[in-house]
Amino acid sequence: MIPVTKPYLPERDRFHRYVDEIYDRNWLTNNGPLVSELTNRLESYLGVRNLLLVSNGTIALQLAYKLLNLKGEVITTPFTFAATSSSIIWEGLCPVYADVSPESYNLCIENIESLINETTSAIVPVHVYGNACDVEGLARIAHKYNLKIIYDAAHAFDVSKDGNNLLNYGDVSTISFHATKLFHTIEGGALIIKDDELYEKAKSMINFGLSSTGLLGKVGTNAKMSEVNAAMGLCNLEEINKIKASRKNLVALYKKNLGDLVKYQKNDTGFSENYSYMPILFKNYQQRHQVEHLLLKEGIATRRYFYPSLEEVYASDQKMTVSRELADRILCLPLYSQLREEDVVRIVAVIKIAIGEHS
Ligand SMILES: *Cc1c(COP(=O)(O)O)cnc(C)c1O
Repeated sequence: MIPVTKPYLPERDRFHRYVDEIYDRNWLTNNGPLVSELTNRLESYLGVRNLLLVSNGTIALQLAYKLLNLKGEVITTPFTFAATSSSIIWEGLCPVYADVSPESYNLCIENIESLINETTSAIVPVHVYGNACDVEGLARIAHKYNLKIIYDAAHAFDVSKDGNNLLNYGDVSTISFHATKLFHTIEGGALIIKDDELYEKAKSMINFGLSSTGLLGKVGTNAKMSEVNAAMGLCNLEEINKIKASRKNLVALYKKNLGDLVKYQKNDTGFSENYSYMPILFKNYQQRHQVEHLLLKEGIATRRYFYPSLEEVYASDQKMTVSRELADRILCLPLYSQLREEDVVRIVAVIKIAIGEHS
């Protein structure tokens, strides 16, 4: 069976050396030396500041909303993983959906302004599949209506334009380091916070609200990353260029062999790609369905990422025509660095049979 994704495991010996260190120090969590080291290395690798490591990408979103003191309605995209909307609802906020662009699959700027009212406090866009949103356009709207922007950048590890990392946009960007993501710490995530004061506040917030002097400041929570998670991150960061190169190669091979048989997500902002997913768009629901089933019969897993659509899950009565259409027609193909080139060739051959048989 070829899975749709497979977590990357770094060299075993390297990870063991870190685990030995952890044993010797007997310092397991609470901002230990490996968490500090990973923070510094990520900040310099990505070219960001005020990066705060946390226990997962969902809590990173929740913390961002708390930190910015959001109230009322938050405009977001339905075409994303469930955590984007569920974190909003979990924090007592109301998600209001704007439909996405059929080309980039990201929030469509033209759909946002009509949804803004006096209770709107923020926009939560997603750089879906690592494809950069129109960050300039979103900044203009946020400025005009005095709204905060929190980017759910869970898919957007190491995406940049002219040397500027995508995570530098918005009041806060959050990222996930879950095992299935491009760069991972098993479970984990981070906030990248523009404002220095808010960054200090967030550090206390993830540690029960304790201040640097150990006194209780405000109400907080526990969202700290452990040393073992940081060790996995340090190992993976050593190998990230190798991971990215193999994925880039596989994506190119998929596109070369598939050609214009299917459609691809468009990158129209000039930011780099990170090859975190391999979404392809079929002609219609039926074609997608046929391909999915023939692949499965051949032992090849795919994912209807993202389905079901969130407006169904959260019972919104908003009509999200484009997102629905994408959810009907899209399929994410297997992509992970250990995937073999001959597997990609075989997967494409099966897709061609499935389409040919029924066209
Ligand atoms: C993975 C993901 C999250 C949640 O991250 P976790 O680390 O799994 O909590 C949030 N948003 C999107 C778009 C994701 O893909």
